[in-house]
Amino acid sequence: MGDIGERKPKVVIVGAGMAGLAAAHRLQSCSGDILDLVVVEAGDRIGGRIFTSEFSGSRIEMGATWIHGIDGSPVYDMAKKAGALIPDDHGGFPFPFERMDGLRSEPLTVAEGGRVVDASMISRISALFSHLKDLIASGEAGDDSPSVGAFLRRGFQSYLASREIGADWTEAAAFAMYEYGERTYTAVDDLESLDLAAEKEYKEFPGEHITLPGGYSRIPNFLSSRLPAGAIRFGRNVSLIEWRPAGSAGIDPVRIHFEDGGMEYADHAIVTVSLGVLKAGLNVTVDGAPGLAFSPPLPEKKREAIRRLGFGLVNKLFMELKGGGENDRSPFPSLRMAFDPARHVASIPRWIRRTESIFPIHSGSRVLLAWFVGGEAAEIEKMDDDEIIRGIHATLDGFSPPPRAAAAADAAFGKIARIRRSGWGRDPRFLGSYSYVAVGSSGDDQDELAKPLPEGGISPAPLQILFAGEATHRTRYATTHGAFLSGVREADRLIQHYGLRSCGF
Ligand SMILES: Cc1cc2nc3c(=O)[nH]c(=O)nc-3n(C[C@H](O)[C@H](O)[C@H](O)COP(=O)(O)OP(=O)(O)OC[C@H]3O[C@@H](n4cnc5c(N)ncnc54)[C@H](O)[C@@H]3O)c2cc1C
Repeated sequence: MGDIGERKPKVVIVGAGMAGLAAAHRLQSCSGDILDLVVVEAGDRIGGRIFTSEFSGSRIEMGATWIHGIDGSPVYDMAKKAGALIPDDHGGFPFPFERMDGLRSEPLTVAEGGRVVDASMISRISALFSHLKDLIASGEAGDDSPSVGAFLRRGFQSYLASREIGADWTEAAAFAMYEYGERTYTAVDDLESLDLAAEKEYKEFPGEHITLPGGYSRIPNFLSSRLPAGAIRFGRNVSLIEWRPAGSAGIDPVRIHFEDGGMEYADHAIVTVSLGVLKAGLNVTVDGAPGLAFSPPLPEKKREAIRRLGFGLVNKLFMELKGGGENDRSPFPSLRMAFDPARHVASIPRWIRRTESIFPIHSGSRVLLAWFVGGEAAEIEKMDDDEIIRGIHATLDGFSPPPRAAAAADAAFGKIARIRRSGWGRDPRFLGSYSYVAVGSSGDDQDELAKPLPEGGISPAPLQILFAGEATHRTRYATTHGAFLSGVREADRLIQHYGLRSCGF
């Protein structure tokens, strides 16, 4: 057990995202003022990959959007406490927010060129895709395919072989459309890179999936409001953490070096930066490069885990439809796009050809949303607004129904006035969106990443560096609740180390 001597042990939490704030809140409520607690954040806001904003009269989420299952979710619990389930007043109406009408229902699936796809074919493909996903989740997918992508493709080929009539391109395009949706959930550029075995370990909380009327950012705001004034320090970009492996001489505490040349001592550092920042840190060779480095370098097993695990890129593109007043309802449908691999409409840009849909953020909204993943998500970070708007217009033209429905099409497939997009890939504080278990990696790598340092042997200064953050949670990675639980896990490690009473939130 750790000794609380005359000097308060100092804990520095690196990062004020969900994991860092959960750890800080837990330590604060359980240890009172026994520990000296500081959160250092590179940016100028809390929340990290949780970032609520506004666009065209609506509340939007640039990052985390859903609570994935509310039954038993600690994030749902926090959302209730934070008042995030209550909408803000907006001139006597609730402030509009993403999916305030729940999950999208009855999307319109259109094939490239403008033909509405036969509903019975879509329900067949949808049932096939759900069945294949159930097999993956239950572990019945077998060992023949290493990746989710390979398994899904085999399933689709068997389906085609079992049918007496040949498939037309729209059937393959519809299957691909579901695959593109799956890329968004998992953040992988190519489902062939997503490990099949790890998918069955992944757990969701049961119950409804919801978005938050008051905005996701209410949750980090609530957690930080429980910390003493000044506990969070902004603009503190950690570039290097010095620590002492077991067996080395001296009992100096950890030294945390900042990009601006400053330095701070700590007995314990809880590192919550993204896997992208850790990956970049493995390659840091020059001052000022993004990424967090360690001296001595992290043990080889941990470095290997960081290298092997996947960190994907997902970006959201919000588009405001031209015309109409703020309160007018738009007839734009939830449009799902079945792209023709032969590039039927040449003007549709390549960077949207693996996006599943363009849809209003809630029924009747004049704000549309499309999700981009992997290479295309990186591409939309680099383009200027006009180029993106031109590409969206070409896409909408390519999916608008034939001339006989031109009047209706004009109203429904409107033009875009302006856009707003996230840029998680180029932001040096994130360098991506969320983690996944890549082929060649496994849940063991997530456990390895979560191990504190120094490991093994008796150390004069135990638990110098602890690791939290979504990527360190073996079964609930890539989510806000995974991040939250990882922060609590590392706070509890210190609480136990100092023999403090365990406590709740
Ligand atoms: C587009 C998008 C959509 C998503 N959708 C959902 C969803 O619907 N539901 C869901 O549950 N999850 C979703 N997620 C995932 C979820 O947002 C994350 O898993 C979670 O917020 C991660 O929290 P974290 O504390 O682990 O990391 P972060 O939020 O990344 O926090 C780490 C903090 O560390 C700071 N930092 C980085 N480097 C340094 C440094 N060198 N020095 C000091 N500070 C540093 C960062 O600025 C950041 O504030 C989404 C994410 C994205 C990007």
